[in-house]
Amino acid sequence: MSNRFIRRAEPCEIVRKLAAKLIMERKLVEEGDNILIAVSGGKDSTMLAWVLSALRPALKVQYSLAALHISSDFCSCCKKSILLQKLNEWDVPFKDLSVPIIGRLKPGRKMNCYWCSTQRRTELLKYAGENNFNKIALGHHLDDIIETFFMNMTGKGVLSAMPVLLQYRKYPVSLIRPLALIEEREIIASADKMGVLKAACTCPYGVNSGRRDMRGKIAAFTGNSGAVKRRIFASLSSGEKDLLIERE
Ligand code: SF4
Repeated sequence: MSNRFIRRAEPCEIVRKLAAKLIMERKLVEEGDNILIAVSGGKDSTMLAWVLSALRPALKVQYSLAALHISSDFCSCCKKSILLQKLNEWDVPFKDLSVPIIGRLKPGRKMNCYWCSTQRRTELLKYAGENNFNKIALGHHLDDIIETFFMNMTGKGVLSAMPVLLQYRKYPVSLIRPLALIEEREIIASADKMGVLKAACTCPYGVNSGRRDMRGKIAAFTGNSGAVKRRIFASLSSGEKDLLIERE
């Protein structure tokens, strides 16, 4: 897809075309799939629900969708009323699951984002397995993936990012990330058009200064160019392993 198209197209069209491109290239959605969309009430997962619903005719395969929101015992910020209204419009059934995330902490342990996201991922997998979903769709976008890649490289010394398609070994479920080619600003522009932008997460534990710093550094060295970021994304699956430094 040309950069000229991306610059000129209407925001929702950009999201629709880039999601369709990735889904078709990587076979993220296949005939008979039963897909559970993890929705937080925020813009990314809400736009993910929209695009998976809007692409039904274009993908030419039959698949089912449902959305799962996990409510916790510490956060009531999600504007579920907007989410529910939109999911209803897009014909995506919704389920809200209450999980006592702080209540599961061992004595002396403090609540943090890592603990919360691990608990949420466990519940998602459990719910998907018990309800015959074979795929879980997550709303991570291009900026999330590149930030994670550079944070893992500079903070942990490992080359790892967020895969677009991950088949679990222990569970009969795959994770898919259909928004992986789309920049956050493109999602914001489309969410604004769809009237879901105000559904922002204001979780008190969600401020990650390391991620925010990395976002600034990436913006500086890419010139905030979507084309450069998409080339970084492409490099993550370029398969040139022979040119990396071999292990001892
Ligand atoms: S941002 Fe808040 S709700 Fe989201 S994973 Fe982190 S702690 Fe949990």
